[in-house]
Amino acid sequence: MKLFSASLLCFLVSWVTCASAGRYEGFQVLRVSPRKDVETKLLERMEQEGYLDVFRRGRDGSVDVLVDKAKAKLLADFGLKSDTLLSDVDRLVENQMRGRGQVRYGNVTWDRYNTLEEIYDYMDHIASEHPDVATVFSLGKTWEGRDIKALRLTRDGDEDTKPIVFLDAGFHAREWIAPAVASYTFHSLMHDATGLLSSAVWVVAPSMNPDGYEYTWTGDRLWRKTRSNRTSVCKGVDPNRNFDFHWMEVGASDNPCSEIYAGPSALSEPETMALADYMEAHRGRVKAYLTLHSYSQLFMYPFGHTLDLPEDWEELDRVAKLAVEALTAVHGTEYEYGSCSSILYLDAGSSRDYVKGVVEVPYVYTIELRDQGYYGFLLPPEQILPTCEETWEAIRVAAKEALAL
Ligand SMILES: [Zn+2]
Repeated sequence: MKLFSASLLCFLVSWVTCASAGRYEGFQVLRVSPRKDVETKLLERMEQEGYLDVFRRGRDGSVDVLVDKAKAKLLADFGLKSDTLLSDVDRLVENQMRGRGQVRYGNVTWDRYNTLEEIYDYMDHIASEHPDVATVFSLGKTWEGRDIKALRLTRDGDEDTKPIVFLDAGFHAREWIAPAVASYTFHSLMHDATGLLSSAVWVVAPSMNPDGYEYTWTGDRLWRKTRSNRTSVCKGVDPNRNFDFHWMEVGASDNPCSEIYAGPSALSEPETMALADYMEAHRGRVKAYLTLHSYSQLFMYPFGHTLDLPEDWEELDRVAKLAVEALTAVHGTEYEYGSCSSILYLDAGSSRDYVKGVVEVPYVYTIELRDQGYYGFLLPPEQILPTCEETWEAIRVAAKEALAL
């Protein structure tokens, strides 16, 4: 165990250096398949201690991890069996930045990823073109002082009494497909003719972690957490482990260098507080809360902190089934649905569990978008539009059911 700790410490040093440089020369994504309990525990400990960046966990116990050559060798030395998912992370990262800065608001398309500035410009553009329907407001400020902008959309008055559908994205900075899908919903809602906008107030926040998102463009494409800076060693908190509901009970870490660091206390981050404040202020009015993440192709309802299901799980399950069927009908993409703890893993402190468990919003879902690990977070630009099209159908159906339309 002594040898194990020493080698891990040494790799921690190289990890911090590499990540802050934001270069991925020689990096790969591996799917590691532990064969024994001790191997599973080893991987868990590496993640908890911030040595290993786990991209995804499979139901079969496999984990997708980002490694440089040295870490790949370390895993092999420990006897862990793995398959290569991505052999050239650096090249794919470059591909993600393609066309940067070429598309302007009013002409936003979904054939490439948009920067924070472009997304925010697009929201301002919609609000200025359609002031009777759309308003931009800020949910709060981030650690670095950016606005967490949201677009409020509704038709036909009663703005203060109608039920609210709240959609957010981007709590995890590197999950670029999520803000893209959220931005696409502006477009879809503006063109909706089925009453979605007259029956509800829609609040869509495409980037709940704009500091992190900006940093994925300027510093490190695979940054996940917020950018809060409390220790000299490692920045950021996992916002989706920071909410005040069974905080730190399971699936989270108290190590600031871990990708699943839950923060020094619950709701320590201005980004999580911003959502909590909005939800508390609109308690009783929010009928549906949808939060976009990637990747895995899952449509999940609470809870993540326990295997117990919410009392109304049968209704949540019914709507999840309809939403997934609608999604699959568009391009044939297959999704699983169920409670988070039953189809993914145990994790405490998510926005999903908080919004259901504390604010008691009836319809609450996390959508883990494309893909299932072939590209993972580096989903090619060609898949943005089809992902938006199919996910919109799921969002539309879930909202329609939640609003009983
Ligand atoms: Zn996520």
